[in-house]
Amino acid sequence: MNTSNNTINLHKKTVDFLKTSPSMLINNEEVQSGSKKVFATKNPANGSVLAEIPLAEDIDVNMAVKAARKAFTDTWKHVKPSEKSDLIWNLAELIERDLEVLVELETLDNGKPLNKAKYDVLGAVAHLKYYAGWCTKIEGTSIPTDTNKLVYTKREPLGVVGLIVPWNFPLMIAIWKLAPALACGNCCVLKPAEQTPLTALYLGKLIVEAGFPAGVVNIVTGPGLPTGEAISNHMDIDKISFTGSTEVGRKIMLSAANSNLKKVSLELGGKSPNVIFNDADLDLVLGGLQWSSFYNSGQECTLGSRIYVQESIYEEVLKVLKGKTIKMTIGEGIENPDLGPMVSEEQLKTVSNYIEKGKKEGGNIICGGNRLEGKLADGYFLEPTIFETDTEDATIVKEEIFGPVVVISKFKTFDEVVEKANDTKYGLAAAVWTKDISKAHRFANEVDAGSIWVNGYDLFDAAVPFGGFKQSGNGKEMGKSAIDLYTKEKAVWVVL
Ligand code: NAP
Ligand code: MG
Repeated sequence: MNTSNNTINLHKKTVDFLKTSPSMLINNEEVQSGSKKVFATKNPANGSVLAEIPLAEDIDVNMAVKAARKAFTDTWKHVKPSEKSDLIWNLAELIERDLEVLVELETLDNGKPLNKAKYDVLGAVAHLKYYAGWCTKIEGTSIPTDTNKLVYTKREPLGVVGLIVPWNFPLMIAIWKLAPALACGNCCVLKPAEQTPLTALYLGKLIVEAGFPAGVVNIVTGPGLPTGEAISNHMDIDKISFTGSTEVGRKIMLSAANSNLKKVSLELGGKSPNVIFNDADLDLVLGGLQWSSFYNSGQECTLGSRIYVQESIYEEVLKVLKGKTIKMTIGEGIENPDLGPMVSEEQLKTVSNYIEKGKKEGGNIICGGNRLEGKLADGYFLEPTIFETDTEDATIVKEEIFGPVVVISKFKTFDEVVEKANDTKYGLAAAVWTKDISKAHRFANEVDAGSIWVNGYDLFDAAVPFGGFKQSGNGKEMGKSAIDLYTKEKAVWVVL
């Protein structure tokens, strides 16, 4: 293990956790994989190996599913909603207790700045507390048909659910799935991304400490192949909730179709338009435009990666955005810069290839575009990059880059920009900046995206449904919508 380059003293629990071969959680036992195979998780800030992680294969996933199924039928089904609520709340409190440890692990594993990791972990706590409240409020209805019949509906848990999460918000997205799945009475098999398994494995310890019965939550680690596929192909998993790329989302649907037709909900990629009209409050717009473009080093599905600015204010917006972008600090997450590294060398290459393609297809680089050299050369650091282009069918306008690259262009009219905003296979989010209230609502009506932000960006709350349209996915997480996602509705007919 090498946790070199740390400019802070890590919490003792962080150091101990990394030293003691992080384990998977199956049936409340900390286990290695049956084959004893492992893979390395790295610190993307310097390329060093943080820990060796168990690589789960079919046999391990089978054990996890078996434990989850047994827990579902023998235990979890019989735990009262109010007790479920207590357990979920306990978990939230344990995460709060170990906040510092989880923040450090997330920063080391993913690269993100400490204060951004803290925001994620606190978001996970808020989510758990929100869904702890739901356990006791999942109700059915009674439906009038005719007088000699009683018809009522029940919302029942699905059974065993597979939760597959990406590397960009590792703990937070795991909790976005775990919290409602547990509140609805399901048992879970969770797989974090291979680049960022540490916080999920630490969470495993807290799940046991919180008092969850054995098998209710199981956590397995490994890459898409074999671990992810063993979950999505499994014949005894009732649902997959997946967040990740559109490409893998397609594979998950195929796996479901080719196995037991398990339910699938997908949160996938995006290429969200961020539209600025000339009647916008420019101070408000320019206060955070660099963040809605580059937060998490651009590795966020909802970022406003296509900026459209109305002609008369275009030069001013571009000038201020450039000024703020070149001032963003970049460095190791533990030094709390504005931006950390890309999560992996592979991601750095993918994004660099897009930058080359952008140049070849005629994009004009306003700033950035290069990998960082010098003392950061061992890490996967890329400068935040602004591309100016008027070619709507350029690859950098069409495809999700998932790195610190934003494209900016100008528009003349409302109709023109709505057409551009919708000219994408994605439909995750969109933002509009204007003081004209009716223009804002017309934009919200006409743009085909799951979340529309007016005079703000990246607004989230556990209570508000989130999820994409078109190839950005299906199903809504958060709020009451997630209760529908993790339950099935049964109709009961009684002839009186
Ligand atoms: P990814 O490559 O699709 O991987 C996501 C997860 O799926 C990982 O755990 C991955 O495992 C696993 N996986 C890969 N192949 C699989 C297979 N054949 N069967 C089952 N599981 C498989 O995505 P990523 O690179 O981690 O994340 C980036 C993508 O996620 C971006 O496209 C981004 O837009 C999207 N995203 C969307 C949202 C949203 O809410 N809409 C949020 C965050 C990210 P390994 O990584 O371990 O191989
Ligand atoms: Mg890592």
